[in-house]
Amino acid sequence: MQALTFGGKEMIDYSTVKDPELLHPSDAIVRIIMAGICGSDLHVYHGRETGLDHGTVMGHEFTGVIEETGSGVKKFKKGARVLSPFTTSCGECFYCRIGLTCRCEKGNLFGWMQNGHGLHGAQAAYIRVPMADTTLLPLSNDLNEKKGLLLGDVFSTGYFCAENAGIKPGATYAVIGCGPVGLMTILAAKHLGAEKLFAVDVIPERLSIAKKFGAIPLNASASNVKEEIFNNTNGRGADAAMEVVGSETSLKLAIDLIRHGGTISSVGVHTAKNFSFSPGDAYDKNLTYKSGRCPARFYSEKLLREEVPQRYAIEDIVTHQFALKDGARAYEVFDKKLDNCIKAVLLT
Ligand code: NAD
Ligand code: ZN
Ligand code: ZN
Repeated sequence: MQALTFGGKEMIDYSTVKDPELLHPSDAIVRIIMAGICGSDLHVYHGRETGLDHGTVMGHEFTGVIEETGSGVKKFKKGARVLSPFTTSCGECFYCRIGLTCRCEKGNLFGWMQNGHGLHGAQAAYIRVPMADTTLLPLSNDLNEKKGLLLGDVFSTGYFCAENAGIKPGATYAVIGCGPVGLMTILAAKHLGAEKLFAVDVIPERLSIAKKFGAIPLNASASNVKEEIFNNTNGRGADAAMEVVGSETSLKLAIDLIRHGGTISSVGVHTAKNFSFSPGDAYDKNLTYKSGRCPARFYSEKLLREEVPQRYAIEDIVTHQFALKDGARAYEVFDKKLDNCIKAVLLT
């Protein structure tokens, strides 16, 4: 089959690879309809996250159709439309039972092969999904493929970030970073009842979508973000900052923007060796810090059950579609934010 494989720093190859096969009774083979390119793929692309084997099929966001199932798969039949979180999960271990499905004892991240172990990704014609019954979710007819794809990662992650910020009416919030995940965080924070919500970025087009989603846009290159937020909170600072970038600067900004006793909810994937604030800074702020990988299986199921994705046009953030064979160009456009690209998907 054809797939986008990792060829080294900033090298995405359109390659012919072996078709995935059923290896365990709980496996399913899914024919990909749509695969996303995520901000997390860029950490690999730029060589900030190392260890990925060359030749790994990239990508962890997808919707598709069941092509084949192992003898142990009970919930899905050939032809069923499915969505998937970005990690696999068993549904029964300690972590799955407490809803931290991203840390399943038997789970793996799609698109991550290291020293020959792990799982290939979704930027391909087909993908093997282990533990299919407890990983995949049915994609009902009232949900389009884009909604399903976003639910499996960025929408769930945005919701997780907003929930960790402890949204309450009457409080003031800041979302730092208005990429796909930041925009979903804004939407989720508004859904959870945030009233005064500032959105910080440096890209005017992204800030205008943030505004459309109900946030007050602040361009960090044109205004003093801290001053604006402090002026709006009687000199105290925001009740919580949602950090959705994954850089030292954005984390430093998060602690600078919050009030004493405030919360930082961080979902940005960080590759720095140290925090950009000291234990003393955390003490002085009476800081609560929440972070980590989103348990996307848990949130996808919850959000579907509550019919949240049905209520919002979350798919509006998908600005670009590419054929799989144009994957290298798709990565370039997404990475360099060419042509105002926010979210790019690949069609197989
Ligand atoms: P993105 O790169 O498209 O968006 C980041 C945005 O932040 C950009 O619009 C950029 O202009 C802005 N930005 C950069 N520096 C800034 C600063 N100092 N202040 C304000 N804005 C700044 O990425 P994305 O796809 O939206 O993902 C965001 C982060 O979330 C990434 O680190 C990604 O790896 C991570 N992520 C985490 C999870 C999880 O489970 N925790 C899941 C998905 C993505
Ligand atoms: Zn992702
Ligand atoms: Zn588990």
